[in-house]
Amino acid sequence: MKRYSAFAIAREALRHHSGWQRAWRSPEPKSRYDVVIVGAGGHGLATAYYLGRRFGIKNVAVIEKGWLGGGNTGRNTTIIRSNYLQDPSAAIYEKSRSLYETLSQELNYNIMFSPRGVIMLAQTHHEVRGYQRTAHANALQGVTTEFISPRRVKELVPIINIDGPRYPVLGGLWQARGGTARHDAVAWGYARACSDMGMDIIQQCEVTGIRQTDGKVTGVSTTRGEIGCDKLGLVVAGHSGVLADMAGFRLPVESVALQALVSEPIKPCMDVVVMANTVHGYMSQSDKGEMVIGGGADGYNNYTQRGSFHHIEETVRALIETFPMISRLKMLRQWGGIVDMTGDRSPILSRTPLDGCFINCGWGTGGFKAIPGSGYGMAELMAKGYSPLTDAFGLERFREGRFIDESVAAGVAH
Ligand SMILES: Cc1cc2nc3c(=O)[nH]c(=O)nc-3n(C[C@H](O)[C@H](O)[C@H](O)COP(=O)(O)OP(=O)(O)OC[C@H]3O[C@@H](n4cnc5c(N)ncnc54)[C@H](O)[C@@H]3O)c2cc1C
Repeated sequence: MKRYSAFAIAREALRHHSGWQRAWRSPEPKSRYDVVIVGAGGHGLATAYYLGRRFGIKNVAVIEKGWLGGGNTGRNTTIIRSNYLQDPSAAIYEKSRSLYETLSQELNYNIMFSPRGVIMLAQTHHEVRGYQRTAHANALQGVTTEFISPRRVKELVPIINIDGPRYPVLGGLWQARGGTARHDAVAWGYARACSDMGMDIIQQCEVTGIRQTDGKVTGVSTTRGEIGCDKLGLVVAGHSGVLADMAGFRLPVESVALQALVSEPIKPCMDVVVMANTVHGYMSQSDKGEMVIGGGADGYNNYTQRGSFHHIEETVRALIETFPMISRLKMLRQWGGIVDMTGDRSPILSRTPLDGCFINCGWGTGGFKAIPGSGYGMAELMAKGYSPLTDAFGLERFREGRFIDESVAAGVAH
């Protein structure tokens, strides 16, 4: 694969851009692979990438029923942060955030990582106490965050109304190296690197069954034929329950729609990400100038990639009271994704009751930020059977009552 560089742009400009290669191949599936990953979202592709890069396992297929990155990875609002409360969460999210810092260089693909800073507003005394506690926990975990005053919030976000008609801003949890990245580019960058290592990314290929013999996985049935494998990774976010059912086990996961919307583009007016969890909304400004807006998840299970109308109203109302100037903006687009929610709002990275079958799911409303760290740990789990990053996130925690409660860090906040 030819490297992307300033020199390559200049060279191609001189020859009418006739020399660019396809970023990834579209091969026919082989009959057998060492590892099959189901789901070409960010987590599936990152898992495949680190299997090759860290462990030399390259006879790998990533199977996708639609187009790569077309699930939640291409539908999210791209917030990256690692200010979680519990130690195992801080470890995996901070690993991920730190991998994001150099991911463009590592993949030779501009993922547009923008560490512009993330504020989670504290708008009740309960939130003040909660976020001060998180800032203390983060200090012990080596994650750099601080609890800031309302005045500092206003300095960072001049367009905010800190007096609030319902909930004044009482402070905020600030992570200066949090931010955003281009979601499609993360999927595309990993896909290109996987393809370059000889892995097969097979799009428009739905897994319809999981084959097994004597309690051990042997392969998958797909709409493009049977594919054998020694190890199988299920990385399908909102469809995890469906795939687990095919494999013969149940998951403590619910699938619900989560939606986002963007405004018309306007001049730069906000250069940090702001989350207002009490009033239920968050906002950042994209490089194109659109205000990127998200709210809460639907209150009932469903598989529609739209989300319900009353949530748009609730989210926009919340943001208008936080940023009164947006009341004059037109909204351009709205969409939804199906997120996989666990009871403790922490992910599952685990072996399963089916030997050789592993699962990576439960990232709920906040897994974009975790893509590099999750792939890094999941690859180690699949290659070696153990990873310090994923150890606490096994399925058995639900049986044993060892919950990793992140309901404060991962409610509306993404
Ligand atoms: C509106 C919205 C806003 C969000 N905002 C944020 C945010 O700001 N920050 C953040 O960190 N996270 C955010 N998230 C969450 C984040 O998007 C997800 O946690 C993350 O993208 C999950 O990635 P994934 O690779 O696990 O899943 P996906 O990207 O959904 O990939 C799973 C893939 O599996 C495929 N698949 C399913 N079934 C099959 C099958 N039978 N056969 C083959 N393929 C199959 C799907 O087609 C899909 O492409 C948001 C999510 C949404 C919906």
